[in-house]
Amino acid sequence: MELIKDGKRLDGRGFNELRDIKIEVGVLNRAIGSAYVEWGRNKVMAAVYGPREMHPKFLRDPTKAVLRCIYNMAPFSVEDRKRPGPDRRSVEISKISSEALSHVVMLERYPNSAIDVYVEILQADAGTRCVGLTAASVALADAGIPMKDMVASCASGKVNGEIVLDLMKEEDNYGDCDLPLAVIPRRKEVVLLQMDGKLTQDEFKKAYEVAIDGSMQVYEIQKNALLKSVNEVKIGE
Ligand code: UDP
Repeated sequence: MELIKDGKRLDGRGFNELRDIKIEVGVLNRAIGSAYVEWGRNKVMAAVYGPREMHPKFLRDPTKAVLRCIYNMAPFSVEDRKRPGPDRRSVEISKISSEALSHVVMLERYPNSAIDVYVEILQADAGTRCVGLTAASVALADAGIPMKDMVASCASGKVNGEIVLDLMKEEDNYGDCDLPLAVIPRRKEVVLLQMDGKLTQDEFKKAYEVAIDGSMQVYEIQKNALLKSVNEVKIGE
């Protein structure tokens, strides 16, 4: 499928361009922290509960909190209705997201506790694990849970032989490779890296750099959304 024409992608983006990203902070009253992210045609909600006593008890860690990220795709979020409930894919994404977020949250401050982060995909258009992680980080910051930094995330990939940033659905489906990545921006430490497809070593190096650059751009958008929410609270007081 022809995904690149005259140096432009199907939606008119250049190779290193992100889709439009809009982040709203603190959108849910009953969660301790929350964020809603629109990223291209993706729509994702993240909600944080805790730190609270961990149940069941046998999952408690007396040295630190356990962060559980629960990624869920709504049945109406995709073209072919998705069967409700967990499947292999959502269990995998929940696991890698929990691990990525555990690198930044100061878990040792809350022994025996659980921090639950719910990521609900309301509309999916590729890259939802990156969108979910981005929303989850902002929701954790909104909850006021101590963190060393946020996690910023973005995928790159290979489409019609070109390395591009932030694949949308058509590029994900008909492209050659997808490389989702998440990073702790201040340390430039990678906390998630997956690859679906094939790349040469040189292509990988380029795609890796492109995904890091994209994640750094996402980080700026996350910070701006948080700053805006803090300023709004001050004005309202
Ligand atoms: N998708 C779908 N049905 C599913 C799972 C995924 O239609 O059951 C679509 C959805 O648009 C998703 C895309 O396929 O965003 C790419 O899925 P992938 O597993 O690569 O994860 P993602 O890129 O969303 O992190």
